[in-house]
Amino acid sequence: MSEHLTTVASVAVDTRHFIGGERVAATETFTDVSPIDGSSLGEIARGTGTDAGAAVAAARAAFPGWAATPPAERARLLEAVAEGVEKRLEELAVVETHDNGALLRSHRRGVMPRVAHNFRFFADRLLKLGHEDFATRGHTQHVSWDPAGPCVLITPWNAPLLLATWKAAPALAAGNTVILKPSEWSPLTASLLADIATAAGLPPGVLNVVQGYGPEVGAALVAHPDVRRVSFTGSVPTAKRIAASAAAHLTPVSLELGGKSPLLVFADADLDLAVDLALEQYDNAGQVCLAATRVLVERPVAGEFTRRLAGRAARLRQGDPRDPATDLGPLIHPRQLEKVDGFVRRALAAGARTVVGGHPSADHPGGDDPGDGRDAAREGGLYYPPTLLTDVAQDSEIVQEEVFGPVLTLQTFTTEDEAVHLANDTRFGLAATVATGDHERARRVTARLVAGTVWVNCFYVRDLRAPFGGSRHSGIGREGGDWSFDFYCDLKTTVTAPNGWTDHE
Ligand code: NAD
Repeated sequence: MSEHLTTVASVAVDTRHFIGGERVAATETFTDVSPIDGSSLGEIARGTGTDAGAAVAAARAAFPGWAATPPAERARLLEAVAEGVEKRLEELAVVETHDNGALLRSHRRGVMPRVAHNFRFFADRLLKLGHEDFATRGHTQHVSWDPAGPCVLITPWNAPLLLATWKAAPALAAGNTVILKPSEWSPLTASLLADIATAAGLPPGVLNVVQGYGPEVGAALVAHPDVRRVSFTGSVPTAKRIAASAAAHLTPVSLELGGKSPLLVFADADLDLAVDLALEQYDNAGQVCLAATRVLVERPVAGEFTRRLAGRAARLRQGDPRDPATDLGPLIHPRQLEKVDGFVRRALAAGARTVVGGHPSADHPGGDDPGDGRDAAREGGLYYPPTLLTDVAQDSEIVQEEVFGPVLTLQTFTTEDEAVHLANDTRFGLAATVATGDHERARRVTARLVAGTVWVNCFYVRDLRAPFGGSRHSGIGREGGDWSFDFYCDLKTTVTAPNGWTDHE
């Protein structure tokens, strides 16, 4: 086997960049480690500024041809990518689970089918994009969505291929070329996507993948003057760096960032449903941007709700994410474990009380780990138990900051006004969930919540036709449905006078 190929659970993955339709080796590499058991998954290309420049050049060279390809043909090719994803669904699911530790059953049933759907949906949507003309004093007005050019897509590790394709599919459908930079903690499925795109017949340079560290190759991509869009999903601190760098060339950015979303449980709610909704927040070991990690409960039902939630949270099964019986897998990396553990320790020191969980399952060795996480993961140290904390102050760190782990806080309220106030009182505004049996209340409360998405008596139901994004520090802009095309395109209005033609019919 070539030194550029690694094998993950019998799936061969190329560890090089994919630029202009070719595999490109790097002079330096980094080790990709599985959070499941600390095994090395391969030596991955560590991209440089030169690689970033080559990828943008390839995307730029391919742009005119791809932009001029008729939409129906682009849609056909993206359909072929969707078919390729479906054909390799099991491989993608297995590789992703080894790489980021999220549940294999979720990857199989939910995530990877959704990856295929991303391509299908945006391919189809492009063809239906409103091209309705209208007239002003006889002048025809025509709006077109012109592709913008090379787009840089930078993605995190918690849902690697899902988030990459949620951006790549509309960008490509619209006629842009893309450079995808996946997270260095979960680089593998992006490489498989490059193989799938090639097999589907996507022309060289239309989809490029560069691997490596954010501050190195990621920063170089964002700073490149030939890049026309940067779409980023990740943390607030990185977003600020990206926005500042993109500003130098006035490159438009779309930022999908963190959250500290509330789950409001009113006394009139179906309590079993409310407990189910709270438990869902432990999915992916809490490493979900949308997670409603602040549970706000109306005082009369707080005791009963807490008792039921604690009982069920304590019974969640934590372990190998490949095991279908597992509810929570490991955290992605020792640094993440340390971060989560630090938040909880500081909360306890500040007076919080543990109802469930509250400390790593083993005395984790991650603290002195040199960085790639092998030791900690090998010793099974990346598992953090589902945790529920009470007696937390609204202005405390644990209530205000995103933990990105399986840690919920529980606070109580007595009035609707107080519930809304607590819900809105962080710097984030990504999502909110409301559990209530009263329609009118649901209407009143949702109208007052600051959030990109509000769920009422449900969670995580998402339709690609809807806009997605966050307010305040949870992001800038919306993607999804036609809003994705608005971001990835330069909209143009062409106004044509009714007369002045010389080519008489
Ligand atoms: P991160 O900001 O550390 O990294 C995200 C990506 O940015 C990675 O690919 C990284 O290599 C790259 N990067 C880092 N520094 C960079 C730089 N200077 N220039 C360019 N690129 C750079 O975030 P993470 O830890 O990977 O992801 C977790 C965060 O993502 C959480 O805050 C979570 O809430 C958020 N998230 C948001 C959404 C959403 O849709 N709103 C979805 C998933 C995750």
